[in-house]
Amino acid sequence: MSDMWDLSWTSADGTEINVENPGEYTIVSAERSLPGQFEQTQNTTESGSWLEPPQVKQDGDRSVVTIVATHGRFEVEIEGLSIEVQGDDSMPPPPMMPLMMPLTSMPLSQIEDEPVSDQDSKRHTPTANQPTTCLKCGHLGQPDDRFCAQCGAVL
Ligand SMILES: [Zn+2]
Repeated sequence: MSDMWDLSWTSADGTEINVENPGEYTIVSAERSLPGQFEQTQNTTESGSWLEPPQVKQDGDRSVVTIVATHGRFEVEIEGLSIEVQGDDSMPPPPMMPLMMPLTSMPLSQIEDEPVSDQDSKRHTPTANQPTTCLKCGHLGQPDDRFCAQCGAVL
């Protein structure tokens, strides 16, 4: 259906430009015939089908075609036989997110250090003044007892 939107014009420098949309592609060709020679360049862009007729802006030797198609919005710049397509055929690049920066600059070492020092203090809990339990009868003696008061076993 977009055949009716096909464009062709001649730029100020005598370049004949054709823009067409056969199916899923936008084909832009620029050709110039000089006495004794013929030059042509072509650019095929996977634009999808055009959603609206392309708009052409001419600025001296330069022509800019704006195409709105199913794959996004494309700008085709034609100057002489040079064809350049700029388009956002997919997602636009993610914008810079300055708000995310403070998270990554948080000192991670502080978070990791805390549990370690906590474990350390538990490991070094003094045991010297704990009551002595007899291994033979289970009697709980004084810390400095050498023999069990209950059964006389060596502690
Ligand atoms: Zn004992």
